[in-house]
Amino acid sequence: MNYGYLAYPDIPDDAVHVLPLGAVEPHGPHAPLVTDTLISIGVCHRAAARLEGEIPVLVLPPVHYGVTRYARAFPGTVSISEDTLRSLVTEIAESVGKLVLVNNHFEPEQVATLRSTGLPLLDLTRRVNAERLTEEFRSGSCHAGRYETSLVLADRPELVHTKRMAALAERHVDMPAGIRAGRTDFLALGMDDAYCGAPAESSAEEGRETFETLTDLLVELIREVAA
Ligand SMILES: [Zn+2]
Repeated sequence: MNYGYLAYPDIPDDAVHVLPLGAVEPHGPHAPLVTDTLISIGVCHRAAARLEGEIPVLVLPPVHYGVTRYARAFPGTVSISEDTLRSLVTEIAESVGKLVLVNNHFEPEQVATLRSTGLPLLDLTRRVNAERLTEEFRSGSCHAGRYETSLVLADRPELVHTKRMAALAERHVDMPAGIRAGRTDFLALGMDDAYCGAPAESSAEEGRETFETLTDLLVELIREVAA
């Protein structure tokens, strides 16, 4: 199911491919730059495992780079343009056949670009999906907070600086409202340490539960695409 590790004779004809997408950007002083991609990778592998024997699902090598300008005041931000992302994704789609995009970087320009490809997209910013996720996620105060940090703790705990995490005060920032008001960088949004939400409350257990919900959503989408 890990596409990059297969030898070519082993690639099934009728597979659905999933492409993990994210960003390279600061996620607080405690979580890794590629947090968003790690979440996408975790969901893709769980969905592929759950559909084993029903639908062959192949997890493509991830696209770590995304459109990420809001974090530019901090070191660790590596952004690509909307045009580059669109070309990359559409050209990958042309190569592989059935493809589902799995994104966990929610900067509006990233989401809009992925939507504009017309490809099937696990779009967690759609209300019908967001409603099934945690309270912090729905609040919009969820960059490197409890929601995302818990997901990283579930899969890659060695990448979280747990001492730093435990010392971080809760910081409520309604990112969607701030962005609508024209505040399009972390500092203007009030995120002096490149996070919002409550990272100190994170747990691997919550992360595993959230992964189950994310996997439900992706499995539903893959079944639609395979049908
Ligand atoms: Zn993130």
